[in-house]
Amino acid sequence: MFRSAPELLATVNTDLYIGGAAVAAHDGSRFDVIDPATAEPIASVANGGVSDALAAIDAADAAAASWAATAPRVRAEILRKAFDLMTEQLDEYAALISLENGKALTDARGEVAYAAEFLRWYSEEAVRIPGSLSTAPAGTNRILISHQPIGICVLVTPWNFPAAMATRKIGPALAAGCTVVLKPASDTPLTALAMARTFEQAGLPAGVLNVVPSRKSGSVVSAMLHDSRVRKLSFTGSTEVGRVLLKEAADLVLNTSMELGGNAPFLVFADADLDAAIDGAMIAKMRNAGEACTAANRFYVEDSVAHEFSVRLGERMAGLTLGPGLDEASNVGPLVNQEAVDKVAELVATAVGEGAQVVTGGSRPDRAGYYYEPTVLAGVPASAAILQEEIFGPVAPIVSFSSEDEAVTLANNTEFGLVAYVFTSDLERGLRVGERIDAGMIGLNRGLVSDPAAPFGGVKQSGIGREGGAEGILEYLESKYIAATW
Ligand code: NAP
Ligand code: MG
Repeated sequence: MFRSAPELLATVNTDLYIGGAAVAAHDGSRFDVIDPATAEPIASVANGGVSDALAAIDAADAAAASWAATAPRVRAEILRKAFDLMTEQLDEYAALISLENGKALTDARGEVAYAAEFLRWYSEEAVRIPGSLSTAPAGTNRILISHQPIGICVLVTPWNFPAAMATRKIGPALAAGCTVVLKPASDTPLTALAMARTFEQAGLPAGVLNVVPSRKSGSVVSAMLHDSRVRKLSFTGSTEVGRVLLKEAADLVLNTSMELGGNAPFLVFADADLDAAIDGAMIAKMRNAGEACTAANRFYVEDSVAHEFSVRLGERMAGLTLGPGLDEASNVGPLVNQEAVDKVAELVATAVGEGAQVVTGGSRPDRAGYYYEPTVLAGVPASAAILQEEIFGPVAPIVSFSSEDEAVTLANNTEFGLVAYVFTSDLERGLRVGERIDAGMIGLNRGLVSDPAAPFGGVKQSGIGREGGAEGILEYLESKYIAATW
């Protein structure tokens, strides 16, 4: 094991973090955080309620004017310092993520590096907020455009990337000059609480970042979205909850950024480099044990190579070591909770009932914790239920196709549109297919698209808006237009 759990946990604040201080919930209530590798509680965290959430908004409000007026260079250097600290503590953060989320240490280390990069990227963007001055077409006046911080932001994040989904919002929000309240997923609140301390050490003024873990997310988030001081909701999570929150945000006409569910197709054409396609498939499917919105959810492989692809992917998946995330020998950790395992098991059972063949895996190992075996299903009928839902687990269903048009039609047969992967050695075909697939992002001969310097986000029911890149900071800014005559 990397480091003993009690030693690590002793360093984390488990109260709410409001106005720069660790505080208990008003009603004193707490909830347990579970280690998915053992199904045992590892920590108890303050359970924020409505009055706590509103106290966090008070703190964000009190800090708002001075943070918005803080020089961009100063905001930038705090973010840069937070990047440095997170990078120095990469192993500690990775262990904490692994402990509360279950993911293997290699995945957790990758997440911390990725998470920290958003702080570095937005430290660089903070001093490059665009504006313009032009002459009106009629020649009567000038058009002056600047960008102002949008105001107080409510950030709601999922458990699958406890650090990165938070920094992808905190980085641009703080760079833009906004103050925020973060409501992390209740399965993984410890990483968010640890990050609050890192920002404090980086010199972030009290009240700019507040963290309110809660098991009462519905009422807590709703109360914040109905407080007229709040101007924005940035949410990452399921499409189901996203829909509910879009309706809630409508009441006060809040600006929203929504990073929702995915159902990524992974297309392999017969002319693809099959070694590269298998490597790409392993990354696109197995990063985070399949618990990623970008996870390849449906493999469409051209007839002539479908059998070989299934056999080779099966061999690679069978070679993975399933075990506790904190064990350096594990390639694949447990899933986040029992519900996740039950859902994956049911999807596999249904697919087998519909005619899919199990190439490898297909069951839960007999051990404590929330494990499911890396699984490959071949010969999955194109109508199978498993192809319509986010699996969010280590299962690769393979379907064969016989033409480019068929592949594109199958890929687009979903209400989601986050990411798609295309493997072909014909660049012209790759670009053509990439343009025809309705998704916000395309991995062309690559199993990984996430990059802090690029706009991450989906179309259709995968969301609204983009995170990362030059686009990401615009989500936290309002355009201010001044028509001026001089
Ligand atoms: P989730 O159930 O939608 O929860 C996301 C967040 O919303 C959590 O903080 C959750 O709190 C909170 N929440 C749940 N119900 C709520 C309600 N009624 N009102 C207000 N807040 C509520 O999603 P998840 O299970 O944590 O994460 C998995 C999902 O996230 C997948 O669908 C995945 O595709 C998506 N995701 C998308 C992206 C992207 O960038 N597009 C990235 C990562 C994940 P609790 O923890 O207390 O329930
Ligand atoms: Mg959930």
